[in-house]
Formats: sequence, C-alpha cells, structure tokens
Amino acid sequence: MFKKIGKAAEPTAEELEFIYSMLEQLSDSEIIDEMQNTPYPLRTTGFIKRRRREFAAAKKILEKNVKIDDPVVNEARRQHVVRVIETAKTLVGKELLDTYDRDNFDSPNETEAISEALDNRLEYFDGIPELLDAFLRHFTYEEKANGQLYGDMIVQDPLKAIEICRLLILRGTLLGECSICKIWH
Ligand SMILES: [Zn+2]
Repeated sequence: MFKKIGKAAEPTAEELEFIYSMLEQLSDSEIIDEMQNTPYPLRTTGFIKRRRREFAAAKKILEKNVKIDDPVVNEARRQHVVRVIETAKTLVGKELLDTYDRDNFDSPNETEAISEALDNRLEYFDGIPELLDAFLRHFTYEEKANGQLYGDMIVQDPLKAIEICRLLILRGTLLGECSICKIWH
C-alpha cells in the first residue's frame, strides 16, 4: 500500500492517539520517522506541530478538571453551598419560613411588616458582606427571581422573596455562578 501525502486525509482517532503518545518524548521529525512503519498516512512537520498545539491546549483543560476533583476544593465548594443556604435561613428566619403562605398574610399592612422584618434581618450580615454577597448573587439566578435583586423584591413582594429562599433551602443546591463558585467552574 502506498502512502498518500496531503491535507485531504483527516487523522483518525487511532492516529491521533499514536501521535499524542509520542509528543512529549520525540521531536516532530522523529515522530514522522516513527510513522513510516505504520498504516497511517505520511505527515508533514507542520501537521505534527498543529497536533502539538492541540495537545498542549487539551492538556491544560485536563489539568484544570483534575483540580476540580481535588477533595480540598470539593470540600470548600460544599461549605460554600452550605453557607449560602444558612445565609438564606438567617435572612428569612424560621418563623417566616414556616408561615409565609399568602393565605396567612393577605393584608397590605402585614406584607409591609414582613418587608420590614426582612430588611432588618439584613443587618445580621453587616460584618460579613462576603456571605451576603454570595447569597445575593445566587438569589438572582433562581428561576422565580428572574434576575430580580433580593433587596428590591423584599420591598415589592416579600412573600415571593421568602418563597424563593425556601425553595433554595429545600433544594440544597445553588444555581448560577458567584465569585467563589467561579474559581472552580
Ligand atoms: Zn457561589
């Protein structure tokens, strides 16, 4: 069988694997020498150089993914989720979480009182803005929040704000990204 030289032949997965396995030990021309005795087409040094670039890029991504599986990072991430959920619990308070139902609070006066109560509870986080920031960011990503800010919602529709917090707490997961999540995404 004669060997075709040309751009026409796209490398197969097997050929790529063969080339990738030698990239870190051999030079471009040495790899081409190695390929003489294989069923793969003859390649140019330019072709091998392009594979080198792809390989280096893929390797970077792989290394990043390996870091994501790092148990230390996983633990930090888990703690972040727990903290945001705890923040939601503190912001609403157990009493309102249990009774927020619209049937229980149907007068505008009551709604306003809830709005004020929620606003006051924001003060718990005066000294720890990092926790509040992470919660606030994740809140806007909640489907029902639809991008609306927690601070605005507790004024306009505090019962809806509580409902969203309750969902987040029950679900136990966070949507979207924040500066903390982003490090590992
Ligand atoms: Zn986050």
